[in-house]
Amino acid sequence: MTNKTITLTDGLYEYLKSVSLREPPILQRLREETSHYPMANMQIAPEQGQFMALLIELMGATRALEVGVFTGYSALWTALALPPEGKLVACDIDESYTNVAQRYWEEAGVAEKIELRLAPAIETLNWLISVGEEHSYDFIFIDADKESYLAYYEGALRLLRPGGLIAVDNVLWSGRVADPAASEAETLALGQFNAVLHRDPRVGISLLPVADGLTLALKR
Ligand code: SAH
Ligand code: CA
Repeated sequence: MTNKTITLTDGLYEYLKSVSLREPPILQRLREETSHYPMANMQIAPEQGQFMALLIELMGATRALEVGVFTGYSALWTALALPPEGKLVACDIDESYTNVAQRYWEEAGVAEKIELRLAPAIETLNWLISVGEEHSYDFIFIDADKESYLAYYEGALRLLRPGGLIAVDNVLWSGRVADPAASEAETLALGQFNAVLHRDPRVGISLLPVADGLTLALKR
Protein backbone atom coordinates (compact mmCIF):
# COMPACT_ATOMS: atom_id res chain seq x y z
CA MET A 1 0.00 0.00 0.00
CA THR A 2 1.22 3.51 -0.71
CA ASN A 3 -0.15 7.00 -0.17
CA LYS A 4 2.00 8.53 -2.87
CA THR A 5 1.50 7.93 -6.56
CA ILE A 6 2.70 4.45 -7.35
CA THR A 7 5.60 3.90 -9.74
CA LEU A 8 4.37 1.89 -12.68
CA THR A 9 6.65 -0.99 -13.55
CA ASP A 10 6.23 -2.38 -17.07
CA GLY A 11 4.39 -5.34 -15.61
CA LEU A 12 2.00 -3.21 -13.58
CA TYR A 13 1.35 -0.95 -16.57
CA GLU A 14 0.46 -4.01 -18.69
CA TYR A 15 -1.84 -5.17 -15.89
CA LEU A 16 -3.53 -1.75 -15.70
CA LYS A 17 -4.27 -1.88 -19.40
CA SER A 18 -5.37 -5.51 -19.30
CA VAL A 19 -8.07 -4.78 -16.73
CA SER A 20 -9.23 -1.34 -17.89
CA LEU A 21 -8.41 -0.47 -21.47
CA ARG A 22 -11.27 -0.55 -23.97
CA GLU A 23 -9.54 0.81 -27.03
CA PRO A 24 -11.74 0.40 -30.12
CA PRO A 25 -10.06 -1.56 -32.97
CA ILE A 26 -9.84 1.53 -35.21
CA LEU A 27 -7.89 3.41 -32.53
CA GLN A 28 -5.64 0.38 -32.10
CA ARG A 29 -4.93 0.40 -35.82
CA LEU A 30 -4.22 4.14 -35.87
CA ARG A 31 -1.83 3.75 -32.95
CA GLU A 32 -0.09 0.87 -34.73
CA GLU A 33 0.31 2.89 -37.95
CA THR A 34 1.57 5.90 -35.99
CA SER A 35 4.11 3.81 -34.05
CA HIS A 36 6.26 3.69 -37.21
CA TYR A 37 6.68 7.48 -37.21
CA PRO A 38 9.89 8.85 -35.65
CA MET A 39 7.75 11.25 -33.57
CA ALA A 40 5.26 8.60 -32.39
CA ASN A 41 5.93 9.52 -28.75
CA MET A 42 4.02 12.77 -29.28
CA GLN A 43 0.82 10.74 -29.28
CA ILE A 44 -1.18 10.39 -26.09
CA ALA A 45 -1.28 7.01 -24.33
CA PRO A 46 -4.32 4.80 -24.94
CA GLU A 47 -5.46 4.84 -21.30
CA GLN A 48 -5.16 8.64 -21.43
CA GLY A 49 -7.40 8.76 -24.50
CA GLN A 50 -9.96 6.63 -22.71
CA PHE A 51 -9.74 8.92 -19.66
CA MET A 52 -10.26 12.05 -21.76
CA ALA A 53 -13.23 10.38 -23.46
CA LEU A 54 -14.69 9.63 -20.04
CA LEU A 55 -14.30 13.29 -19.03
CA ILE A 56 -16.05 14.40 -22.21
CA GLU A 57 -18.90 12.01 -21.52
CA LEU A 58 -19.05 13.04 -17.87
CA MET A 59 -19.33 16.72 -18.81
CA GLY A 60 -21.85 16.11 -21.56
CA ALA A 61 -19.53 18.15 -23.76
CA THR A 62 -20.71 18.99 -27.28
CA ARG A 63 -18.10 21.55 -28.34
CA ALA A 64 -14.44 20.61 -28.21
CA LEU A 65 -11.19 22.05 -29.50
CA GLU A 66 -7.79 20.42 -29.95
CA VAL A 67 -4.45 22.19 -30.39
CA GLY A 68 -2.02 19.68 -31.92
CA VAL A 69 -3.56 16.83 -33.94
CA PHE A 70 -0.62 14.82 -35.35
CA THR A 71 -2.11 11.62 -36.86
CA GLY A 72 -5.43 12.22 -35.14
CA TYR A 73 -5.40 9.71 -32.29
CA SER A 74 -6.51 12.00 -29.44
CA ALA A 75 -8.97 13.73 -31.77
CA LEU A 76 -10.52 10.38 -32.66
CA TRP A 77 -11.02 9.47 -28.98
CA THR A 78 -12.59 12.91 -28.52
CA ALA A 79 -14.86 12.75 -31.56
CA LEU A 80 -16.06 9.25 -30.66
CA ALA A 81 -16.96 10.48 -27.16
CA LEU A 82 -18.93 13.48 -28.44
CA PRO A 83 -22.65 13.08 -29.17
CA PRO A 84 -23.79 12.94 -32.84
CA GLU A 85 -24.39 16.70 -32.90
CA GLY A 86 -21.00 17.36 -31.27
CA LYS A 87 -18.25 19.36 -32.93
CA LEU A 88 -14.45 19.28 -32.63
CA VAL A 89 -12.25 22.02 -34.04
CA ALA A 90 -8.82 20.47 -34.64
CA CYS A 91 -5.72 22.66 -35.14
CA ASP A 92 -2.43 21.65 -36.73
CA ILE A 93 0.07 22.94 -39.29
CA ASP A 94 1.35 19.69 -40.79
CA GLU A 95 -0.78 18.24 -43.53
CA SER A 96 1.37 15.13 -43.90
CA TYR A 97 0.23 14.12 -40.38
CA THR A 98 -3.37 15.26 -40.67
CA ASN A 99 -3.87 13.36 -43.93
CA VAL A 100 -3.44 10.20 -41.88
CA ALA A 101 -5.84 11.61 -39.27
CA GLN A 102 -8.52 12.36 -41.82
CA ARG A 103 -8.32 8.88 -43.31
CA TYR A 104 -9.12 7.36 -39.89
CA TRP A 105 -11.79 9.95 -39.02
CA GLU A 106 -13.59 9.08 -42.28
CA GLU A 107 -13.37 5.38 -41.61
CA ALA A 108 -14.66 5.83 -38.04
CA GLY A 109 -17.63 7.83 -39.33
CA VAL A 110 -16.78 10.96 -37.32
CA ALA A 111 -15.28 13.15 -40.06
CA GLU A 112 -18.47 15.24 -40.10
CA LYS A 113 -17.92 16.17 -36.47
CA ILE A 114 -14.34 17.41 -36.99
CA GLU A 115 -13.35 20.73 -38.50
CA LEU A 116 -9.63 20.64 -39.29
CA ARG A 117 -7.90 24.03 -39.31
CA LEU A 118 -4.49 23.93 -40.96
CA ALA A 119 -2.79 27.10 -39.64
CA PRO A 120 -0.66 28.10 -36.69
CA ALA A 121 -3.00 27.31 -33.79
CA ILE A 122 -2.72 30.76 -32.24
CA GLU A 123 -4.20 32.20 -35.46
CA THR A 124 -7.10 29.76 -35.28
CA LEU A 125 -7.75 30.58 -31.62
CA ASN A 126 -7.72 34.31 -32.36
CA TRP A 127 -9.97 33.78 -35.36
CA LEU A 128 -12.50 31.79 -33.28
CA ILE A 129 -12.52 34.61 -30.72
CA SER A 130 -13.02 37.19 -33.49
CA VAL A 131 -16.02 35.33 -34.94
CA GLY A 132 -17.80 35.35 -31.57
CA GLU A 133 -17.00 31.88 -30.22
CA GLU A 134 -15.80 33.12 -26.84
CA HIS A 135 -17.27 31.31 -23.80
CA SER A 136 -18.71 28.54 -25.97
CA TYR A 137 -16.38 25.52 -25.71
CA ASP A 138 -16.77 22.73 -23.17
CA PHE A 139 -13.46 20.89 -23.57
CA ILE A 140 -10.09 22.03 -24.94
CA PHE A 141 -7.01 19.81 -25.31
CA ILE A 142 -3.59 21.49 -25.62
CA ASP A 143 -0.82 19.32 -27.12
CA ALA A 144 1.18 21.32 -29.71
CA ASP A 145 4.53 23.20 -29.52
CA LYS A 146 5.44 23.56 -25.86
CA GLU A 147 6.85 27.11 -26.11
CA SER A 148 3.36 28.35 -27.01
CA TYR A 149 1.47 26.59 -24.20
CA LEU A 150 0.87 29.81 -22.21
CA ALA A 151 -0.51 31.56 -25.31
CA TYR A 152 -2.75 28.56 -26.10
CA TYR A 153 -3.90 28.47 -22.49
CA GLU A 154 -4.91 32.16 -22.53
CA GLY A 155 -6.79 31.69 -25.81
CA ALA A 156 -8.43 28.53 -24.50
CA LEU A 157 -9.58 30.29 -21.31
CA ARG A 158 -11.37 32.85 -23.45
CA LEU A 159 -13.00 30.25 -25.67
CA LEU A 160 -14.13 28.07 -22.76
CA ARG A 161 -17.46 28.45 -21.00
CA PRO A 162 -17.38 28.75 -17.19
CA GLY A 163 -17.29 25.14 -15.95
CA GLY A 164 -15.45 24.09 -19.11
CA LEU A 165 -12.25 22.07 -18.94
CA ILE A 166 -8.77 22.47 -20.40
CA ALA A 167 -6.52 19.39 -20.55
CA VAL A 168 -2.81 19.96 -21.17
CA ASP A 169 -0.45 17.18 -22.26
CA ASN A 170 3.23 16.46 -21.48
CA VAL A 171 3.41 18.64 -18.37
CA LEU A 172 5.91 16.24 -16.73
CA TRP A 173 8.04 16.05 -19.91
CA SER A 174 9.68 12.70 -19.12
CA GLY A 175 10.65 14.15 -15.74
CA ARG A 176 12.83 16.89 -17.26
CA VAL A 177 10.73 19.65 -15.62
CA ALA A 178 11.98 18.57 -12.19
CA ASP A 179 15.66 18.90 -13.18
CA PRO A 180 16.96 22.30 -11.97
CA ALA A 181 19.83 22.04 -14.47
CA ALA A 182 17.53 21.65 -17.47
CA SER A 183 18.10 24.36 -20.05
CA GLU A 184 16.19 23.25 -23.18
CA ALA A 185 13.61 25.81 -24.34
CA GLU A 186 10.75 23.30 -24.26
CA THR A 187 11.54 22.16 -20.72
CA LEU A 188 11.81 25.74 -19.46
CA ALA A 189 8.53 26.65 -21.16
CA LEU A 190 6.73 23.72 -19.56
CA GLY A 191 8.24 24.57 -16.17
CA GLN A 192 7.01 28.13 -16.51
CA PHE A 193 3.61 26.94 -17.67
CA ASN A 194 3.23 24.65 -14.64
CA ALA A 195 4.26 27.46 -12.27
CA VAL A 196 1.79 29.92 -13.80
CA LEU A 197 -1.09 27.46 -13.56
CA HIS A 198 -0.25 26.66 -9.96
CA ARG A 199 -1.05 30.22 -8.93
CA ASP A 200 -3.82 31.05 -11.41
CA PRO A 201 -7.03 31.68 -9.43
CA ARG A 202 -9.17 31.60 -12.60
CA VAL A 203 -9.02 27.80 -12.67
CA GLY A 204 -9.24 24.77 -10.41
CA ILE A 205 -6.37 22.44 -11.24
CA SER A 206 -5.08 18.92 -10.96
CA LEU A 207 -1.83 17.58 -12.39
CA LEU A 208 -2.28 13.88 -13.03
CA PRO A 209 0.80 11.66 -13.42
CA VAL A 210 -0.86 9.76 -16.25
CA ALA A 211 1.38 9.03 -19.24
CA ASP A 212 3.69 12.10 -19.64
CA GLY A 213 1.67 14.23 -17.19
CA LEU A 214 -1.78 15.68 -17.83
CA THR A 215 -2.98 18.89 -16.20
CA LEU A 216 -6.69 19.53 -15.92
CA ALA A 217 -7.80 23.15 -15.48
CA LEU A 218 -11.46 23.87 -14.77
CA LYS A 219 -12.56 27.40 -15.68
CA ARG A 220 -14.33 29.02 -12.77
N1 SAH B 1 -2.56 15.22 -29.80
C1 SAH B 1 -1.82 14.39 -30.75
C2 SAH B 1 -0.33 14.67 -30.73
C3 SAH B 1 0.04 16.06 -31.13
S1 SAH B 1 1.77 16.20 -31.48
C4 SAH B 1 -2.05 12.91 -30.41
O1 SAH B 1 -2.25 12.59 -29.26
O2 SAH B 1 -1.92 12.10 -31.32
C5 SAH B 1 1.98 17.93 -31.72
C6 SAH B 1 1.39 18.46 -33.00
O3 SAH B 1 1.44 19.88 -32.90
C7 SAH B 1 2.15 18.09 -34.28
O4 SAH B 1 1.27 17.40 -35.16
C8 SAH B 1 2.58 19.42 -34.86
O5 SAH B 1 2.46 19.50 -36.28
C9 SAH B 1 1.60 20.39 -34.20
N2 SAH B 1 2.08 21.78 -34.12
C10 SAH B 1 3.34 22.23 -33.87
N3 SAH B 1 3.36 23.57 -33.88
C11 SAH B 1 2.09 23.98 -34.14
C12 SAH B 1 1.47 25.26 -34.28
N4 SAH B 1 2.17 26.38 -34.14
N5 SAH B 1 0.15 25.30 -34.55
C13 SAH B 1 -0.56 24.16 -34.67
N6 SAH B 1 -0.04 22.94 -34.54
C14 SAH B 1 1.27 22.85 -34.29
CA1 CA C 1 1.58 14.89 -26.49
